[in-house]
Amino acid sequence: MSKQQLEQGACAGCGVKLHTESADKPGFIPASALERDPAICQRCFRIKNYNEAISVTIDQDDFLKLLGGIAATNSLVVHIVDLFDFEGSLISGLQRFVGNNPVLLVVNKIDLLPKGVNMNRLRNWVQKQAKTQGLQTVEVVLCSAKRNIGFDRVIEALAEYRGKRDVYVVGATNVGKSTLINRIIRDYSDLDRELTTSRYPGTTLDAVHIPLDDGHDIIDTPGIVYNHRMTEIVPRSVLQALLPDKPIKQMVYQLNDKQTLFIGGLVRFDFVEGERQSFTLYSSNALPVHRTKLERADELYADHRGEMLAPPTKEQLDEIPAWTRHRLTVRRGSDTDVFISGLGWIHVNGGTGALIDVHAPKGVRVILRDALI
Ligand code: GDP
Repeated sequence: MSKQQLEQGACAGCGVKLHTESADKPGFIPASALERDPAICQRCFRIKNYNEAISVTIDQDDFLKLLGGIAATNSLVVHIVDLFDFEGSLISGLQRFVGNNPVLLVVNKIDLLPKGVNMNRLRNWVQKQAKTQGLQTVEVVLCSAKRNIGFDRVIEALAEYRGKRDVYVVGATNVGKSTLINRIIRDYSDLDRELTTSRYPGTTLDAVHIPLDDGHDIIDTPGIVYNHRMTEIVPRSVLQALLPDKPIKQMVYQLNDKQTLFIGGLVRFDFVEGERQSFTLYSSNALPVHRTKLERADELYADHRGEMLAPPTKEQLDEIPAWTRHRLTVRRGSDTDVFISGLGWIHVNGGTGALIDVHAPKGVRVILRDALI
């Protein structure tokens, strides 16, 4: 295929416009594969040949158009969120966009929680949070796609709620959508049937239909990129330290007011005012924590950023937006987490109230929420 043909070319599998530019965008084909006849995009190639879905991403505008397309179908919508980044990965306004179609909320990565967390309490927490965000769900399923926990219920729930409909799978990036779809493909796909495409008016974006062995399709959509997640704004080389892979070992810090914690060099947490109390940090254990006095924090950061206070390294720091300060007031008597999207959260244990400043890269969502654990 010549460059000119490439410019007009569409994937023979899913119909998306082909390009050789960016591997994480729909339609990517490696230059070396252009000679293949028929030419198919990398995403279809992997599904066909390796039974493996790969992640591709799109921005919010394109994603909303795609969701609008789903409203016009009669389908079951499976929304996958990452428990570790719940408020960061929940698609706000999903309800409006999917019309009358039912939504099954699959909460992935429960393997990351410390041992002994009560699953019923957790499910109630998720239900409450989803409701607060205006999302009505037919069911909340807790699972770990990677460790194969709760997966039987995912499959049962799919069968139960879909009836004779197709299933759209939607989610933000890195929530484990591909991992989950790959499990489904491995056990239930019928790849003798062709991969097909659905094209929505006004978009160039294509969702891959994967035929299942019951005659229906599961439709993989690109992952939405949310710039309020730390995981989206750090360079890829930092991502590994940020995304926990093993169950989190929570760390408890007894702090007096006017003390500061640095979480790597990614976030600074100042306990500005309040009675002495403990704070429990839930974040990747690959991020070292340093504690200092608030009055020394500026100087410590200036002297040690990118070195002792890392990741990010000095070079990586250049690629990350500068910090902004979020001032948070934790009410007396409340049971609250300080949630930092993509990094984790800090549970405020005292119940006596606290004034807190969080310094985080500009754009990262930092909020107070009801305690998860
Ligand atoms: P996608 O972007 O939503 O398709 O996400 P992927 O399936 O590519 O997964 C993103 C990252 O999360 C990868 O590093 C996966 O290994 C990891 N991951 C996926 N599912 C799980 C899970 O259940 N638990 C844990 N701990 N990690 C997971």
